[in-house]
This record gives sequence, structure tokens and C-alpha cells, in this order.
Amino acid sequence: MLRLSGLSLPLDHPADAIAPAIAARLGVAPAEVRGFTVFKRGNDARRRNAILLVYTVDVDLTDEAEVLARLAGDKDVRPTPDMTYRPPVHAPEGWQGLRPVVIGAGPCGLFAGLILARMGFRPIIVDRGKIVRERTKDTWGLWRRSELNPDSNVQFGEGGAGTFSDGKLYCRVKDPRFLGRKVLEEFVKAGAPDDILWQAHPHIGTFRLVTMVESMRRTIEELGGEYRWQTRVDAIELDGARKMRGLHLHDGSFLEADHVVLAVGHSARPTFEMLHRMGVHLEAKPFSIGVRIEHPQSWIDQARFGNCAKHPDLGAAAYALSHHCANGRTVYSFCMCPGGRVVAATSEEGRVVTNGMSQYSRAEFNANSGLVVAIDPARDYPGGPLAGIELQRKWEDAAFLAGGSNYHAPGQLVGDLLAGRPSTALGQVVPSYKPGVTPTDLSACLPDFVIEAFREALPVFGRQIARYDHPEAVMTGVETRTSSPLRITRGADLQSLNTPRLFPAGEGAGYAGGILSAAIDGIKVAEAVAKSMTAG
Ligand code: FAD
Repeated sequence: MLRLSGLSLPLDHPADAIAPAIAARLGVAPAEVRGFTVFKRGNDARRRNAILLVYTVDVDLTDEAEVLARLAGDKDVRPTPDMTYRPPVHAPEGWQGLRPVVIGAGPCGLFAGLILARMGFRPIIVDRGKIVRERTKDTWGLWRRSELNPDSNVQFGEGGAGTFSDGKLYCRVKDPRFLGRKVLEEFVKAGAPDDILWQAHPHIGTFRLVTMVESMRRTIEELGGEYRWQTRVDAIELDGARKMRGLHLHDGSFLEADHVVLAVGHSARPTFEMLHRMGVHLEAKPFSIGVRIEHPQSWIDQARFGNCAKHPDLGAAAYALSHHCANGRTVYSFCMCPGGRVVAATSEEGRVVTNGMSQYSRAEFNANSGLVVAIDPARDYPGGPLAGIELQRKWEDAAFLAGGSNYHAPGQLVGDLLAGRPSTALGQVVPSYKPGVTPTDLSACLPDFVIEAFREALPVFGRQIARYDHPEAVMTGVETRTSSPLRITRGADLQSLNTPRLFPAGEGAGYAGGILSAAIDGIKVAEAVAKSMTAG
């Protein structure tokens, strides 16, 4: 097979136009194209009234060698790569060793667990939260009744932080082994729609993610893996050489473990504090803070797709924006959720955090996106590995207070923020955050340089997307959990720099940002654990 990318056809092309377009692009007669499959499909909306669908296709030709030789210098034509996943090792027949333990059942822990189980190592997966159906009730408890369960919420429990999300499944990590493809294929096996395999920007949405993580749990259990819910790891125990010996659990028991995957996510603050006390090598890393901004989805569709808005092949429009400000800061859109809602995403009492989610249909009224400013340890929190957490807590506390101390989020109209006055009422854009939004002044809950950067960036964005800086667009704060504020640094063997057989992984360890990259990292770490366990 030969892979051809960058094949553009008009939005409304007939289905039978693809084969002739392939033949024309490759310079062969139509009869030479024996068949093809669509590997990816995206769109090019730079000219919004002449939108193109852009295909990557795998083509079966009568004389592939001739075409590859003739088009050797063409970067869009190459042999289809082998994307088959092959685990590097297997547990020896009848293996009875000490089982590896995975802390965290988010995408990283799930994939680490799945791959270890498939390799025959019968992992134990522990998570401080509950199984996903019970967790859903607790999560809704905050959204509907302002009742937070610190162990079971948007951040903690089966499926991890991405369960109540937009379920976007793309990332920019280099992936020469096609591990991202492996993740998508496992998701499809677990019940995801198979369009995630060929959409250029696939997404799943919340409800489907819930059933998928249940299905993955059954697979891991059938392979001999085991889950322990409501099992918080409170401490690690090391031997004299600082090697892993085991885990002290919340209920006072001890779980012996000499290979531990630490996939605790970016909100595992008590766990980070414990690791710091235990001398595990940590370092502060950059992340971003800001707000969620909401507009009617119809405004975004119109601005991005013009007359083609609502076309079934395009779906709800997304956007990605970025602006470098005169104060040296960069404002950018983050985790944009078309047709979704803003959600309460705190895991700690007395704090307010925003994030975004959607369903597969992306049919809700508003578009929302993080609008955030990049910050870094040298400039903004020079106080050591845990200083980023302190900074997050400071602004989350301020947001709780500004919202009314009842988990309502502080909100401000874009027009008021630009004019430097507090909001006292909302306008035509109805914010979706529950339990509610309190109109106020966001400068009470974000650093001055962030507000200043927003004031510069919003009008710039308004020139790129009409009505982006509409005076009645709403901003709700604060978005502080954009990525981990620290890194649990690991070496080439993926073990902690100074704590052998502890494998920091995923977003919390600073090695992923999002569902797909966390899952890919889970696979890599599972392989590293397996290699270490089987090494002579
Ligand atoms: P997590 O998913 O955070 O999982 C960590 C797990 O560890 C949790 O289940 C937690 O309970 C457990 N844990 C923590 N401490 C302990 C302990 N001491 N003992 C036992 N268990 C512990 N990403 C995307 O790519 N696309 C999106 O559309 C998207 N939308 C999002 C929407 C929301 C509302 C949120 C909150 C996040 C979203 N993300 C999205 C980010 C994505 O969810 C994360 O990047 C991803 O979940 C990180 O995976 P992880 O496995 O590394 O950690």
C-alpha cells in the first residue's frame, strides 16, 4: 500500500470523486487504482466559502513500485507504514512474581494497566476515586448542589480527569511507533465511534467515555488485572538504596510493590507533597492560568465556516488562537470545546476551578475555551518544586471568594473587562457553568499581567474571529489546572531520577498534556516496567 496525503476535494464532492482524484494526483490511469481506504480526513477552512476536505488515503495500486520511484521526491507520497503494535516483552509462562502496581486510573494508568495485563503481568490498579457510575453522581453533586467530594469528582476516579470532558483525541507529540493509533484502536474496541480512527481532530464526548472506561476495566480484569477503588496512596516506602518497596494506603494497610507506575494526574497535590517529603526528585515546570470564555456556538460557526456553517461534514467549529503581548506574555486558547459547557473542576474544598466538556454531538448552545496566559517558575513562582501549586491555590481561593463562597464561579463580561469595570449583570450570552456564575471583577482572582494581556489580546482575536471580543461574551474563572505545575523527572529508563522502580507517568508527572498523550505515555511506561521486571 502507498500513503497519499494532502488530497483536497471540495466540501460537497460526491463519494465517487475520491478514486479519480487519487489517480490524477498520482499520474496513473483510474483503472490502476485497485482500492483505497481513508486514513485521515480534515478540512481546510482558510477560505470559508470554499472549504475543502483534505484526505490522507492508503491506496492499493497495480504498480506501486513504479509510482513510488517516479514520485520519490514528493513528500505527500510514501509507502504506508506498518502501524501494528508489538509489545516488546511478555511475562514468562506461569509467571508468579510480585505484581506491578499502577497508581491512578486515568488514561495513562488505564493504558499502563492494559498493556501490562496484555503482556501477562496482572497489574494492580489503585485509585483514590470511585468506579465511574458512582463517580458521576458525586461529580453532579458539585454541579447541582454545590457539594464537593474531595476523593470523587471531575479530577479523581475511574477514567481520570478526562472522563467528563470534550474527549478530544489528538496531540502534537512525536509518535514514530504509532502508539496514538494503538490508543484509538483500543478505544474503538471499548465502544468509541470508529470515526475517531479517521477524523483529523477526533473527539468522543463525555457519555461515551463513561461506557468505554467500563469496557476497558472488564478487559483488564479478564486478563488477570485487578482494581482497587477508594484506595488512596498516602506514602511510598523505599529500601536503603531508595528502591521501591511498597505503598502505604489510606486505610492503613501496606501493599508490597517493587515496580510502581505513578500516574496520578496534575491535581494530585497531597501526593506531590508526599513525594517531596520522601525526597523524590521533582522540579517546577511552566503551565498556564486564565479563564474560560463563552460565545454562542453559532457565532463561531459563522466566523469560521461562513455559508457552510452547520454542514454535517464540518460539525461545530473549533478555533485555536494565540497572541504575544507587549508585556512579554502569551495569551492563547486552550482545550476549546465546541457546543459544550463550562464545568466546575475543583478537587479541593473552598476553591473554584473551571474547565470545559461536551457530548459527542457537540450540540449545546455555547462554544467555550480556556483563554490562558503562559507562566513559568523563573518569573512567576521561583519558590521550589511545589511553588506552582501554591500559586494555583492562591487564585483558586480568590475565585471561590469572588464567586460568593458557594462554588459559583466569578464571571465578567468581555466589555466590562476591557473597560476596567466590574460586571454587575450578565448579557445575551448565558454562561453554562453550574452551580452558577457571579458577575464581578476578574482582576480580584488573577494576576494583573494576565488581565493586562487579555485586554490586549481580545481585540486582536476579535479581528480573527468576528464577535470574539463582543462586549457580552462571558469569561468565568479561574482556569488553573491546564497542566501539571511540576515534573517528576525520570531518566532514559523512564524511572524516577533518584528513586529506582518508581515510574512517573502521564500528565501529573509532566510527561503528557491531554488524554491521548497521557495514554501514549502509559503504554511507554508499561513497556519500561515490563523490561525492568524481566531484566536478568
Ligand atoms: P488523570 O486523568 O488526572 O488521572 C489520575 C488519576 O489518579 C485520578 O483518577 C486520581 O483519582 C488518581 N489519583 C491521584 N492521586 C492518587 C493517589 N494518591 N492514590 C490513588 N489514586 C490517585 N484532555 C484532552 O486531551 N481532551 C479533552 O477534551 C480534555 N478535556 C478535559 C476536560 C476536563 C473537565 C478536564 C478536567 C480535563 C480535560 N482534559 C482533556 C485533560 C485530560 O483529562 C488529562 O490530560 C488526562 O486525563 C491526564 O491523564 P492522566 O492519566 O495522566 O491523569
